[in-house]
Amino acid sequence: MSSKDLYSILGVERSASDAELKKAYRKLAQKYHPDVNKDNEEAEKKFKEINMAYEILSDKQKRAQYDQFGSTGGPGGGGFGGGFGGFDPSQFSGDSGFADIFETFFGGAHPGGGRSRGPRGPQTGGDIETTLSLSLEESAFGTDKTLEINKADACPHCDGKGAEPGSSIVDCVDCQGTGQVRSVRQTILGNMQTVRTCSRCHGEGQVPEKPCTTCHGTMRTRQRQNLTVKIPAGVENGATIRLKGKGEAGIRGGGYGDLYLHIRVTPHKSFLRKGYDIHSEIELHVLQAILGDKINVETLHGPISLKIPSGTQNGHTFKLKQKGVQHMRGSGQGDHYVTVKVMIPTKLSKEEKVLYDQLTTASGLDLDPDQGLFSKFKK
Ligand SMILES: [Zn+2]
Ligand SMILES: [Zn+2]
Repeated sequence: MSSKDLYSILGVERSASDAELKKAYRKLAQKYHPDVNKDNEEAEKKFKEINMAYEILSDKQKRAQYDQFGSTGGPGGGGFGGGFGGFDPSQFSGDSGFADIFETFFGGAHPGGGRSRGPRGPQTGGDIETTLSLSLEESAFGTDKTLEINKADACPHCDGKGAEPGSSIVDCVDCQGTGQVRSVRQTILGNMQTVRTCSRCHGEGQVPEKPCTTCHGTMRTRQRQNLTVKIPAGVENGATIRLKGKGEAGIRGGGYGDLYLHIRVTPHKSFLRKGYDIHSEIELHVLQAILGDKINVETLHGPISLKIPSGTQNGHTFKLKQKGVQHMRGSGQGDHYVTVKVMIPTKLSKEEKVLYDQLTTASGLDLDPDQGLFSKFKK
């Protein structure tokens, strides 16, 4: 089984998702499992091959390394498998066998596999996601909000260095300051040198003489922090604001992650936002609608005087120009639409009843009140 592409071993495309890999692996592993292929050497070989391929491809970091070196030649010059010239994975017993081979091949010792790519190199801090609730007014006009976040940040006691203040930095005893630990193993191909990143110093070669007593040398601690965030005017419900570098601190010199703020605008009791426009309703007495009036309408920008013309119909919508939400990009703002809801009185005084009767006569209407307009008020 020399020089076989790991993807073709599993019968998947290079672009296969994790789920596709897993599915392909499961299917093949079932087919070639030793339990169902008793005394079948071919199947056993195949089963080991499948396991090796899956072990590497199911690990994000190893897969990335394989993609990088396996396709471009890598240190062996002939693809991943080619570098070994046909090694037999069955020679490497135990769970760690394949991983060891892989470390040898792609670990920190490889000149092209710079430290930053290794699992022990600098790592960018994690991103943080949080939800921020805003009132409609806050989202419309923008605001400064102070959030309390809980994140891993540089240890304040050692200033993120991992060493107890005042203690010196010394060469790591495990790797004598090289950052790498070598060991030699015997295989059918002869002695094979394995080089691993030193686990004590994480490949740094140096360690603090006395680790920080607060972070125990990890350089980071979990911290509750207050962060003031400027919310831009016009931001919408459901929007996400990315604050670059406001996430968690990196590890071993890696940069900060980002903070993602998911905006939730709480519903307003009388305004509904649609895009940059605001919609609301006004209740008018039937006489206001019939005779006309001048009223104040509440908007985001405060009360606005609105002339109601006589004969205004139920459901009519007035447009209050530029009284909506400020556009997030560019200038200008939306409008405010106010829709009329004509209210019919549900109770009439005796005097009103008399006047409405007179009005009915003047309007030339011939009503049958018991079943008609006012029947329900007669009891
Ligand atoms: Zn070391
Ligand atoms: Zn510390």
